[in-house]
Amino acid sequence: MPEVDAKAFRRTCGMFTTGVTVITTSINGQVHGMTANSFTSVSLDPPLILVCVDLRSKMAQLLSSSKAFTVNVLGRHQEEVSRHFAGSSGDWRGTFMPFGESVRLDDCLAALLCEVYGQFPAGDHVIVLGLVKDLYQQDEGIPLVFWRGTYTSLVGDPSVRTCLGRII
Ligand SMILES: Cc1cc2nc3c(=O)[nH]c(=O)nc-3n(C[C@H](O)[C@H](O)[C@H](O)COP(=O)(O)OP(=O)(O)OC[C@H]3O[C@@H](n4cnc5c(N)ncnc54)[C@H](O)[C@@H]3O)c2cc1C
Repeated sequence: MPEVDAKAFRRTCGMFTTGVTVITTSINGQVHGMTANSFTSVSLDPPLILVCVDLRSKMAQLLSSSKAFTVNVLGRHQEEVSRHFAGSSGDWRGTFMPFGESVRLDDCLAALLCEVYGQFPAGDHVIVLGLVKDLYQQDEGIPLVFWRGTYTSLVGDPSVRTCLGRII
């Protein structure tokens, strides 16, 4: 078997379109957020989700001692929020809203409050399983989309107009 080149692996995985989330957690009143697109739902019964977190990140350290975290699903208008919580220069002037034992971003499209259910080392990342304890969802909104390393949106592509009609 040929060895997979790391850059080619990244590029190829980047062809898979995702939404964008910010993971938030609060420990002793100190809130931390991190942009993540590795979020996926795992199980309906019990309701489980997962997110893969880089072992070098501050979030990985915090989640090892935190009991709860939130997956905040970003809307199309929140590209700067994503940049900010990814450590880039993006602007964020929002606030954190109380959400059970965690917090959520005030302007997110949707949020899932999770109890840490399990953590599984996976190479240079840790897979964090969350048991979903509460949900928040805006009535309407369009998601922020990440594809091939860039932010994009469902809007503007004529082929998804029907789909958009339903989302809006
Ligand atoms: C689209 C996208 C998807 C990504 N997906 C993943 C993924 O699935 N898994 C993964 O491990 N990495 C992912 N990353 C990379 C990850 O977001 C960055 O490496 C991030 O910098 C790691 O955060 P950190 O926990 O180390 O904290 P830091 O880099 O220290 O913090 C991240 C940023 O959030 C800000 N911030 C944190 N807390 C607060 C607060 N309370 N108030 C205001 N600002 C705050 C910080 O100022 C900093 O700018 C992704 C990046 C992008 C752009």
